[in-house]
Parts: sequence; structure tokens; C-alpha cells
Amino acid sequence: MLENLSANLKKGFERITNAIFLDKKIIESSVKDLQRALIQADVNVQLVKELGDKIKKEAENEKIKGIEKKEHIIKILHDEILNLIGKEKHELELEKGKNKKVILVGLYGCGKTTTAIKLANYYLKRGFKTAVLGLDVHRPAATEQLEQLGKQAKIQVFIEKNEKDPIKIYKKYKDEIKKYDLVIIDTAGRHDLDKELIKEIISLEKEIKPHYTLLTIQADIGQAAKKQASEFQKACNINGVIITRMDSSAKAGGALTACNETKAPIFFIGTGEKINEIESFNPKSFISRILGLGDLESLIEKVQSAIDEKTQTKAKQKLKEGIFDLRDFQQQLKQIGNVGSFSKIIELIPGFKKEKVSEKIFDNQEEKIKRWQYAIDSMTKEEIENPEIIEKQTTRLGRIAKGSGITTSDIRQLIKQYKLLKEILQGSKDLSNFDSSQGLSQKQIQKLAKKFGRKLF
Ligand code: GDP
Ligand code: MG
Repeated sequence: MLENLSANLKKGFERITNAIFLDKKIIESSVKDLQRALIQADVNVQLVKELGDKIKKEAENEKIKGIEKKEHIIKILHDEILNLIGKEKHELELEKGKNKKVILVGLYGCGKTTTAIKLANYYLKRGFKTAVLGLDVHRPAATEQLEQLGKQAKIQVFIEKNEKDPIKIYKKYKDEIKKYDLVIIDTAGRHDLDKELIKEIISLEKEIKPHYTLLTIQADIGQAAKKQASEFQKACNINGVIITRMDSSAKAGGALTACNETKAPIFFIGTGEKINEIESFNPKSFISRILGLGDLESLIEKVQSAIDEKTQTKAKQKLKEGIFDLRDFQQQLKQIGNVGSFSKIIELIPGFKKEKVSEKIFDNQEEKIKRWQYAIDSMTKEEIENPEIIEKQTTRLGRIAKGSGITTSDIRQLIKQYKLLKEILQGSKDLSNFDSSQGLSQKQIQKLAKKFGRKLF
């Protein structure tokens, strides 16, 4: 996600961190790198100019000297970029046993239907009872699409194939959907924000009285998100925005900053076509990630939510006792598969350089897990409980490969990833008092970064 922006921003940062003396020339060229990166990501030129001017002005501040100045400038850079996309994290306020309704609105093809299922799944995984109500009565295949996605994700979907009045559909299911903690309501879009669309949204809002109306925007439109968000804000009650297709757009930077300009808070970002490819948007960790500072907070949250509580406690207990074997690993992998691909989770580890590791490691993870299953079936109890011995004794490796028909390099990979996950879990065990609403303390992050950064790569 945002690979180019990330690489170019890092270049600007590194120029400053690597410099021994900060002279005017170094500042100017780093600011240029940063500005170029932001403009390429479709961030508004005026905003980019202002950011550059601020940094240059700080750099000329004679009161701050030497190393302190360097740190100072890096902090300003970081903060200014953060300013561009907003500081606060916004999440839906849900409560088990209380019914909350969220309407998704937006233009045609912006990702409403996909996002409706993604959100229902996101909160289902976090322990809420969720459902989706389909009120797109205009597109002929809308109900089928929702039905199919619902089946795939095992989400309860309410649709009405032959009804053309969304209000009637809502009334039919009104009582039924009250049984859920969260109901996501998918609506119809148009090619433009026209009168008909506004009329429909307003009449739905009036009838449904949703707790949240979220505008869905695709990242591809870049800066134009500003116009779209403010037009929707004028026409109806928008609480916030979801930006989709962050994965497939070079203009995502523009979309993010544009929404911040209109003061429309970003709640979520869509990062792929798959059901689990959605993230709650946390500007701070997002920036740390694209600046390559790693994002432990998200990593741990992801791993923890991926692994359901019961298995997690069991695994933690085992780790405490010093045992975490391949069977446990397998169990955890299956759960992680629920939330996102392994490669995406691993991207969140600080210091991790994807380009340094063969891409193959991340290919066909599911297929690989299946192959690993065969390999594990060919192992002795001793090997399952203490996989490290396989690495040390090539005769064992050969025997397992022969018995399972799995290559030795695959088996080595299995053990490598087992060790990796063991480490991550041990990391989160260190954080037993971790409160996800508070985030991690700087100290905890540093401690973990050191640990992971050094050991893994
Ligand atoms: P709607 O018309 O607003 O309901 O949009 P859909 O939910 O039908 O989505 C339109 C297309 O965008 C579909 O092909 C989705 O698979 C795709 N899509 C939605 N969200 C994302 C995302 O975050 N990343 C990518 N790559 N594709 C997405
Ligand atoms: Mg749709």
C-alpha cells in the first residue's frame, strides 16, 4: 500500500537522519524529496508548499543547534505530515446488546457493498453480533452480490429481491435487525451526486435514524475527494468517511489529505478486495508505517483479534511454560488467515524489509498451510514439540520430506515462520497489561521494535 509514497518519503527522512551536519543544502534537498513524494501522491500543491515552508523556517531557527536540531526537524516533519491526514482515530462506538445502525452512502462503484460485508465481518470478529441490510434497489444484480458476499463471509444478510422501494424493505426487517449489535445498511449509488440520490439518502435517514452515516469514497479519485466529501456533507448528515481501494491507487495520499481538509473524519480504509482487507484508520500508526517506523500497535491488535481469545490464552499459557509447538502454530495460522494474509500482517513489523525476503514466502499462503499440514503429519511427537531439532539434524529433514512429499525448503520455511510467530506471541505476552484503547507507550514500542527488529531480520 502506498509503496511509492512511502519509499520517497523515507528518502527525504533518511537524508536528514544520515547527515552529520544539517546545512541549508541538505534541508532544501530533503524538503524537495518530501514535497515531490506528496505531490506524486496527489496531495494538494498549496498544502505541500506550506509544509515545505514551515520546515525550512524551523531549520533556520538559530536557537536550536546540532543533534537537537536534527531531532527537532524530524519531529516537525513527522508532525506536519500527520497534520495533513488528521490526528484522531475514529471508531464506531458499539456496545454488546445495544442495536446500532450504520448507513453507507456514496457514488456508484465506490465499494459500498463490499465495505458493508467487510465491516460486518470486522466487528463480528471482535465479538459483536452483526448483519447487513441491502437497500440497493436500483442495480439489478445488487441483491445477488450481497447474498453471495454474505454467504462467503458467513454474515447474516437481509435482502428483498422483488421490492423496488427501499423504505418498504427497511420496514419489513425493522424488528428483525434490532436483534443485532450492529447493522450495516447498504444503499444504492449514482454516477454523480444528483437530486435523486440526495432525496433517497435523506428519506432513508429520516426513516431509519441511523447512528452513523458513512460516506464511502474510492482512493482513486485523489484530491477530488475534497469536493465529493463536502458536497455530501452539504446534502446530508455525514459522520465520517471510509476510503476504499487504498491498495490500488497511487493517489491515496490525495484522498486522505482531502478528507482531512473537509474535516470529514476517516473511520476506515479498504486495503484490498478480500473481505478481511479493511483497517480502522489510525493516522499515527499509519504515518509510522509509511515512514518505515513500523507499526507495532496495529500488529499486535491484528494478531490478537485474529486469534480468538480462548486459543490465545491457551497459547500464552503454553508460552509461559515454555511450550508452543507446531500444532499450536498450525492452530494460530488458521486463525490469522481469517484476518489478513500473512504478508500483510508481517508488513507491520518494524524494521521489516519485504524486498529483502523472497516474495515466494508470501505466495499462496493457504496452499502452503496445506502442505505444512502434510509435513507435520510426517513428524514424530518429539519433532512437533520441539521443531528446532529438525533444523539441526538434516536426516530428520530428509525423512520428513520423503514421508510427506514436501520439499525440504518448504519444511525449513515452516519452521522459520513457526519461530516468527512464537516470537510475536511472546512479544504480545510482554504486553499483558496492554490496553488497546490506550495504545502502546513509546517505551513499549521501542522495546518491542528493538526485539523484533534485531532478531527477525
Ligand atoms: P458499490 O457499487 O459502491 O456497492 O461498490 P462495490 O462494493 O460493488 O465495489 C466495486 C468494486 O470495487 C468491486 O469490484 C470491489 O471488489 C472493489 N473494491 C471494493 N473495495 C476495494 C478495496 O479496498 N480494494 C480493492 N482493490 N478493490 C475494492
Ligand atoms: Mg453496491
